[in-house]
Amino acid sequence: MTGTGAQGAADGETDGRAGGQVDGDGGDVVVERPEDRPGVPDGFGRLWVPHRMAYIGGEGKPEDDAAGSGCPFCRVQSLPDEEGLVVARGEVAFVVLNLYPYNSGHLLVCPDRHVADYTDLTPEEIDEVARLTQTAMRVVRAVSHPAGFNLGMNQGDVAGAGIAAHLHQHVVPRWAGDANFLPIVGRSRALPELLADTRDRLAAAWPRG
Ligand SMILES: [Zn+2]
Repeated sequence: MTGTGAQGAADGETDGRAGGQVDGDGGDVVVERPEDRPGVPDGFGRLWVPHRMAYIGGEGKPEDDAAGSGCPFCRVQSLPDEEGLVVARGEVAFVVLNLYPYNSGHLLVCPDRHVADYTDLTPEEIDEVARLTQTAMRVVRAVSHPAGFNLGMNQGDVAGAGIAAHLHQHVVPRWAGDANFLPIVGRSRALPELLADTRDRLAAAWPRG
């Protein structure tokens, strides 16, 4: 019943290929490494396991607060969009799928700059994070018709920020009944869609220019 059990069973078959994603021309399978993915672990196990490699070990959480390759939100900026699950890029901020989504289409809007506190954002960053948040809502609404959203930033570890050192605004689509008994009883959540597919759909719907 729990995601942990499913992952444990699946781990035995892991050979470095399973769980990978097919590259652009549909040929070779590439291995996804957890350290190449952005995300904020929420403590839930998962019923699906396509990205199970990411849930083993450190869960992508940086060991310190430094910018650079140790921070998933810094690192993802140097990856191709598909690989990093980046949905859109602005001038000073970008939008990425959360690797540990609360719901399908759970997006994170991040400044490019490695900065922790909202009060440290420049006016330009404040503006673009806000505008990208609006666009994210419009795109998710057009693609998957949620009934509502949760928006917000957790500031600091104590407030629940999984990666406190690099600010990220959550855009979480909500549907009636999405918080059913499974998360409460089983610490598991069923997600109907692969993250790569979600990214492709949202990126395709994102307005250009
Ligand atoms: Zn960073």
